[in-house]
Amino acid sequence: LIQLYIPLNFMGMVYREIKQGLVDIETMFALLEKDPEITDKPGAKPLVVEDGTIRFEDVEFSYDGKRPTLRGVDFTVPAGEMVAIVGPTGAGKSTISRLLFRFYDVSGGRILIDGQDIRNVTQESLRAAIGIVPQDTVLFNDTIEYNIRYGRPDATDEEVREAARMAQIDGFIRDLPDGYQSMVGERGLKLSGGEKQRVAIARTILKSPPILMLDEATSALDSHTEKEIQDAFDRVAENRTTLVIAHRLSTIVHADNIIVLDNGRIVEQGRHTDLLARDGLYASMWRRQREAEAARERLAEVGEDG
Ligand code: ADP
Repeated sequence: LIQLYIPLNFMGMVYREIKQGLVDIETMFALLEKDPEITDKPGAKPLVVEDGTIRFEDVEFSYDGKRPTLRGVDFTVPAGEMVAIVGPTGAGKSTISRLLFRFYDVSGGRILIDGQDIRNVTQESLRAAIGIVPQDTVLFNDTIEYNIRYGRPDATDEEVREAARMAQIDGFIRDLPDGYQSMVGERGLKLSGGEKQRVAIARTILKSPPILMLDEATSALDSHTEKEIQDAFDRVAENRTTLVIAHRLSTIVHADNIIVLDNGRIVEQGRHTDLLARDGLYASMWRRQREAEAARERLAEVGEDG
């Protein structure tokens, strides 16, 4: 009984937060992982975003209080720039995004947004300031228009269409028999991962948050889809402080800074060309991805010839 009670109680808490509009559906699943002890400090003030600089200052973190997951992680995302986090599976990339959202508190160091420690501001204001484009977007059983407008319920039809155009999904939608009124989700049209991600980007463009977190899909996409998503990412990231959790290195070659994480530590950082010249972990990850891509292309060609 106790085992059943705890998760249900926790679900209740998450549900209340959603009803109060503290979170959007994107973060709901992540919230299920949230530490229930994270609460607003008495008298917590709303976050005041000026230019949106993010600073991780000597951040230490452990999920279980024993095994360190992040060690001495120190970096800045200057206002309006794009910083990418890369590294092998289990390096701690997603943990960084969870800490920025304050699903957990750091065990050492601080996370600051425009100089404000995120533990001192209201969670509502923190989450309102950060737009997230997750790997797996949850769509409602409703029209595609509703799904995009969810980013800002008072947006006009024209604003919804403009966001869809910027997210490179407008053409696809207009080709559907019912256009923007097409039903999507479980009981409607099934969208591919890339299409769902572009819906999420359109939502985020409407929401227009000062800080953006992109969690790139791990799955391989065909090069056309990849290009479209890339263009959409670039549009939404323009002039916004952006943190990208990147799996395909080809998508972040233009990032202002690339942070290479291994086993919870920053082992290298710099621009793409600097990191290639260093010939370290990033360079070897880059070579491996290039080889894998070349192999996939060869297979695709064989498929076409046969
Ligand atoms: P990445 O995103 O780079 O693949 P993660 O941040 O997901 O890495 O994980 C970093 C480390 O933390 C891994 O060793 C992982 O097993 C551990 N970890 C991730 N989530 C949890 C959790 N909820 N509880 C305990 N350990 C976790």
